[in-house]
This record gives sequence, structure tokens and C-alpha cells, in this order.
Amino acid sequence: MKFSTLISVYESLEDTTKRLEMTDIVSQFLKESPEDVLDVVVYFLLGKVFPDWMDAELGVGTKLVIRVVSTVSGVPESMIEEYVREEGDMGKACERAINEKKQVILFSEELSVEYVYEILTKLSEFSGARSQEKKLKYLSNLFSSATGKEARYLVRIVLGTMRTGIGEGTVRDAVARGFGCDPSQVERAYMLTNDFGLVAKTARKNVADLDKLDITFFRPIKFMLAQVATLQEAKERMHLLSCEIKYDGSRAQIHKKGKKIKIFSRRLEDITSALPDVVGAVRKSIVEDAIVEGEIVAMEHDHPRPFQYVLRRLRRKYDIQEMMEKIPLSLYVFDVLYKDGPLLDFPFRKRREVLEALVREGASAQISTVLVTEDVEEAQEFFNQSIKMGHEGLMIKDVESVYQPGARGKKWLKIKETMETLDLAIIGAEWGEGRRAHWLASFLLGIRDEQGTFMEIGKVGTGITDELFKELTDKLTPYIIEQKGKTVKLIPYLVVEVAYEEVQKSPNYESGYALRFPRVVRMREDKSPEEADDIDRLHEILGE
Ligand code: AMP
Repeated sequence: MKFSTLISVYESLEDTTKRLEMTDIVSQFLKESPEDVLDVVVYFLLGKVFPDWMDAELGVGTKLVIRVVSTVSGVPESMIEEYVREEGDMGKACERAINEKKQVILFSEELSVEYVYEILTKLSEFSGARSQEKKLKYLSNLFSSATGKEARYLVRIVLGTMRTGIGEGTVRDAVARGFGCDPSQVERAYMLTNDFGLVAKTARKNVADLDKLDITFFRPIKFMLAQVATLQEAKERMHLLSCEIKYDGSRAQIHKKGKKIKIFSRRLEDITSALPDVVGAVRKSIVEDAIVEGEIVAMEHDHPRPFQYVLRRLRRKYDIQEMMEKIPLSLYVFDVLYKDGPLLDFPFRKRREVLEALVREGASAQISTVLVTEDVEEAQEFFNQSIKMGHEGLMIKDVESVYQPGARGKKWLKIKETMETLDLAIIGAEWGEGRRAHWLASFLLGIRDEQGTFMEIGKVGTGITDELFKELTDKLTPYIIEQKGKTVKLIPYLVVEVAYEEVQKSPNYESGYALRFPRVVRMREDKSPEEADDIDRLHEILGE
């Protein structure tokens, strides 16, 4: 398929904000797409390159893209940076540069979707010392065949900044309409596979086959999430309170089949190699093939250490043995998603029964401690105990609820002690002064609106140690898309947990709110920007 065909679809999607029209455009396009590229087309439409379950990254930042476009177009990098400032958009800036290309390659081939996909897949395979050079070479090849307009969208795919406005809901409805099946059938197939490309391909071949799709071992599914509540609210919603300790660590989805074990983080990254001790614990304690979920916690003499310790373990790529001794980890399992078939549709109480039969508890793997009661006071007592033991509070789960991947509903409630913090994306920053001149020192925070766009809600520069300033600067610099004086604009990439004293209505920020006295509690590298808190969550905290 010609890449330009896809480009015209992106353009028509940009011309409308109406969901129904978008669904029409996408469903028509999917029907017309050849079968062998249908999956890739779906990923590209969603602004992605890979299915959600796949742990693959292109590892390309704005700097590299500018270098590539400069190499191909002959326009100096500084000029492209100037275009970025003027256009406020990397895609459009690169389009401008490519349009100014001095040398037209006469026999360059027209880009195809297949070729673009092949090259981008290769990029994700490069790692190590010379990977940036290799990426430069491959990307230059790709961009040298691109027209200006193609370059605009290529840049957005590569940087993950495509905002066509179509989300999973639109794709679900478009697949259903295009291939004549029920949206709920598509939704279910997607939940189990976490792969809209596969779902579209299957629906196209034979709609009845959608029901045969199942969870596949070692392809993580999305996590079910929780909403904040008080004990009283929990009681209003649920007659029976199934309370569990809320452990303060990192969520893990564990797949075990035969001798093979893999552990996935909340961002669906494969973190197995950093965790040989947890793998060992799983091997001993999970007695049959299954997919379970739990929290990995750093324990010290029966007392949990702060979450940062777990992160240090997760990030570690070398000297893992030494790190294992310094920061031993424990696993608390709390759910089971698969055993002899998917269990997502089982009520929680049934899944818990399966879990209890599945886990042989040992020193480093246990089942989460639970208390089932109708009595709020008893639940309060359990909460107090949890806090005293150094945990975060309680999770209260509806015993009849099914497991809904990716949903943050009211079936799982989290009860915490402290004032609710917000997980916000960093969308801009300012370079510091004096001693901090080489660091980004003040950060603009963004909260997601319903469309997934980040709106400003405050600036934060306190609660940050020198070490963290340095780390934030290193992490964010590749995502700078615009710089005016000391102020930079960033692709939302990094999420931080922010505490504050109060939320005020404010006309100064796009979101309409401002945080008073915000401070950074910690980085939330386990969360992607799409998982950061949104405006609904803020309304919930404010009781609006
Ligand atoms: P939060 O990250 O603040 O949205 O809180 C939800 C997270 O709490 C989950 O994603 C888990 O990582 C974690 N958690 C800790 N203990 C439990 C538990 N017993 N059940 C479910 N989630 C838990």
C-alpha cells in the first residue's frame, strides 16, 4: 500500500472532530486495506508502530530527527530548530525543511506502508554503542524518499506524537462497522489480545474467529486500575468490603508456562531480567501454568522500604546480583487472570479462590492479606494496621466484579491516608540559573483532558534534589520540541507524582486550575503519559 494513501486518511481525520465521521473514515479505509498490511495500518492509525503488548521502542528523540531531516534536506539543524519554534510542531517544521530540499533524487521510490514499517521495526532492534548512528542511517534512507507531507506524518509516527484524535473506541467501532460484527465482540477480542491489528485482521477473515481469540502467554494484557475513595464511599457502593493491604511497590503481571517465566511492568515492559529473585520466588510458589498479578515490594525486616528502592532494582541492567543483595524484593500476588483458560469474566471472589489454590506461600512470595467484612469500623481498623505496618492503605474490591483490562472504574477502590497526589506529565520546562544553569530547573505540569491532550495546570521547582534535577534534565532533553530563551516545550513523556496544598480555579492555565505549592514527590517512570491523571480524576478529588 502506498504510504501516501495512509497520509490522505490522516488528513481527512484531521479535518473532522466528529467521532462518527472518524469512525466512517476509518472503517471504510480498513475495508479497502489489503489483508497483509491491515494490522500495520491499524497501528499507524493509532499513532503507534507496534501492538500494545509488545515491548519495543524506536528510541528516537527530537534531536536525532532534526539531524536526519537536516542531512536529507540540506537545511542546517539550527534552521530546522527555528522552524520548530515558528510552527510549534515538529512534523510541520520537518515538512518545511524537506520541501526546501535542494537536491531532488530523481529515481527515489515512492514510500509504501510496508517499507516504512520494515525500517521502523529495524530501528527498535538497534541498541548499544553505535545504535544512534545506525538509526541515523536508516531514517535518512527513509526520509530521503519522503515528500514534505509524508515527512510531517513520519515524524509524528517516529516520535509518538500523532494526534489524529482516534483512540481505541473509534478503532473498535470502525472494525465492528467495517467487518459487520458487534463492538462488544471486538472489545472482548482486544482485551484478551491487547492487539488491535490482530483483531482487525481476524475480523476481516472471519468474524466468528474473533471469539476464538484468547490471552496468549507472554503477551501482557492491560492492567485493571483503581479509583480513589474513602471507606464511607466504599461502603455506599459495596455491601461486602473485600479489603486488602495496599502495598507500595511496583505492579507486575507474571506469566508462567512450564519452565518459562516472564514479568511485565505496568507499562507492559518485560522486566524479567532485572528480577532473578522474583523469578525464583514465582518458580517455587506458583504451582501451575498461570498469569497472575501482584505487587513487588522492597522489604527490610518485615517493613516495606520506599517505592524508589523497587525502581532502582527494576532499572538495573548490570551488577544485578549485587543489587539483589542490597535490595531484596518480595512479591504479594493479588489476582489471577488465566489458569486453564481466561478468568477475566470470573467474579473477583472466584478468582481469589483460584489464586489461593495456585500459590504455595513462601518467604518471598505471598498472597495479599485480605479482610472481608460488612463493618466499616472493622475495615478502618484494618486500614490503621496497614498504615502502622508501613503500607499505603487499603484496596477494596467488589467481590462480584470481573477483571476489566485498562479500566479505572469503581470496582476497585484505593483508600490512602495522605492528601491525594496527582500524577502529571511534564510538558515544558525552564533552564535554571547560576549553579543550575545546565539543568532544567522549573517544570510545567500537564493534565490530560478528555481527548488526551495535555493542558497546563502548574509549575513545579521544589521538592527536587540535585540528583533528581540532573536525572530529569537527562531524561527530558531528548524530548525538547521548542526553545524560546530559557523556556522549552516538551513532548509529554515523563510522569511525576506531585503533592500540593490546594487546587484553585485559575484563568492563567489552560486546564482552568492551578496547583498551590506543588512539589515533586517522585518520578513515576512506571506510568506512561497516557496513564497520568486526567481532568476527571481532578474533578473527583475536588468532589465536583
Ligand atoms: P495507584 O498506583 O496509586 O493508582 O494505585 C493502584 C496500584 O496499587 C495498583 O496498580 C497496584 O500496583 C498497587 N497495589 C498494591 N497493593 C494492591 C492490592 N492488594 N491489590 C491491587 N493493587 C494493589
